[in-house]
Amino acid sequence: MFCYQCEQTAGGTGCTRVGVCGKNEDIQSLQDTLLFGLKGIAAYAYHARELGAIDTEVDAFMHEALFKTVTNVSFDINQYIELVLKCGYINIKVMELLDKAHTRRFGIPVPTAVETGTRKGPGIIITGHDLLDLYELLKQTEGTGVNVYTHGEMLPAHGYPELKKFKHLAGNYGGAWQEQKKEFKEFPGAILATTNCVLIPPENTYLDRLFTISITGVPGSKRVEGRDFSELIKKAKSLPELKEAPGKKIMTGFHHTAVLGLADKIISAVKSGKIKHFFLIGGCDGAKAGRNYYTELAEMVPKDCVILTLACGKYRFNKLDFGDIDGIPRLIDVGQCNNAYSAIKIAEALAGAFKTDVNGLPLTLVLSWFEQKAVAILLSLLYLNVKGMYIGPTPPAFLSKNVFSLLQKKFDLRLVTNPKDDLEKILKK
Ligand code: SF4
Repeated sequence: MFCYQCEQTAGGTGCTRVGVCGKNEDIQSLQDTLLFGLKGIAAYAYHARELGAIDTEVDAFMHEALFKTVTNVSFDINQYIELVLKCGYINIKVMELLDKAHTRRFGIPVPTAVETGTRKGPGIIITGHDLLDLYELLKQTEGTGVNVYTHGEMLPAHGYPELKKFKHLAGNYGGAWQEQKKEFKEFPGAILATTNCVLIPPENTYLDRLFTISITGVPGSKRVEGRDFSELIKKAKSLPELKEAPGKKIMTGFHHTAVLGLADKIISAVKSGKIKHFFLIGGCDGAKAGRNYYTELAEMVPKDCVILTLACGKYRFNKLDFGDIDGIPRLIDVGQCNNAYSAIKIAEALAGAFKTDVNGLPLTLVLSWFEQKAVAILLSLLYLNVKGMYIGPTPPAFLSKNVFSLLQKKFDLRLVTNPKDDLEKILKK
């Protein structure tokens, strides 16, 4: 492990603090966890701020926690454990802040069937998470004949009334972020990348059609400044048109308000035994092997169970037909990763209705992790004392052995194994 104290490999031949930093591997691990969590919080706080929402408690924590990661500041492991859990609490606050900012500006999402095919005419595909960029793009493309398609984490945008009202918001094209190289190459129109996760285009493919904005940057791409999309629109008009090719529809927009509208139905389906178990299968998707686990698990979930999902991990299975239980959809897409806040609200409301806590519900969380927002969300769930979660496909590399085993002991945190065995264990509970 790299040591931030002496900037050498900890305990290695160049280590100048043998016996000091060597003992601090767990503190380094917790400091790294904190840093990753803060990056996730920063992303959500950035989006909220762009929409005019700030929270001084969130900002103050960012400073305190970042300060706590500087050299030789504390050697007390318990302080760091407390701080990573507080990071989870602050992440809930910032997700709530962002949810309020989104719903205030774009309305409360409603369940919406989204087209996955294409319409005849020029098109722009927009990827990333920034709904304000999408809104401004829709305003500026209105009446120009250019259709707008969402990609990856933009899919949940289709559920927001103030975004779905634009008739030229034509559908969702493709899957999760790691498919960009293939899907953007095939997409004939112009491309706008608003946030992570953006990839560098392979040589001689779509770099000349790629535009970046705000925090994104790809050398050779064109920059959009001040949300002025005129060059992007001009480019889209100069490119070959997309074909009329209708596709399958997929559902999104199950904000907690919509799901809680079904609360009575859900509660009576649980009481009558028609719904046996809830799964939350979702999180960040990635390109490494092993992620088929999530597709296979979703396919194996028995027909008397409901799957909640969020973030781009859902693309592993969101085009499958799961049907419904007495009108309650078996696949409920609550939205982007920040809408983990909605999933928490749903779980808390169900727990309240059944006079238990989240751990007393027939609910299991099976999370895929990849980047920093997923870390912040994991910390939020640990802060809420959610036990028995499964994470995968691999353990986060920044968790030392001791820290991981501490989490396993305290929160019964489990690593995914294979879908069949995990499902059997979950349903036996
Ligand atoms: S959910 Fe995570 S992996 Fe997926 S696009 Fe968003 S940040 Fe990237």
